[in-house]
Amino acid sequence: MHDPSCIFCKIIAGQIPSKKVYEDDDVFAFHDINPWAPVHFLLVPKQHIPSMAQVGPEHERLLGKMLLLAPRLAAEQGCNPYPEGGFRIVCNTGAEGGQEVHHLHIHVMGGPRPWVRG
Ligand code: 5GP
Ligand code: ZN
Repeated sequence: MHDPSCIFCKIIAGQIPSKKVYEDDDVFAFHDINPWAPVHFLLVPKQHIPSMAQVGPEHERLLGKMLLLAPRLAAEQGCNPYPEGGFRIVCNTGAEGGQEVHHLHIHVMGGPRPWVRG
């Protein structure tokens, strides 16, 4: 369930400090250390799943929960309402997908333009 060498598993366990956005039994959310946008947080399962390349039917409820949480947490973190506001969801997968941390995570980015990147 946990990978002792994984930086996000350590963040979830509180072994590495983070700015927490949300936590429940299944998921953890925290601000990205290097934000691209005024709002930029990461939503991760507590279970160590390396990426979207490893998900299966057993993760349907978990993935649904994460996708439903994203708009709620985005609004709570200050993203402006749709359609003038909104947010971006990104899930980098694998080296060619731009994934650097191999613990499944959804980036949620938003807030007034311009952004640092993206
Ligand atoms: P990826 O490129 O894997 O999709 O994104 C990994 C993200 O994790 C990057 O945006 C990076 O800034 C963030 N990140 C990496 N290490 C840490 C850390 O120790 N703390 C926090 N809060 N974010 C991190
Ligand atoms: Zn992990």
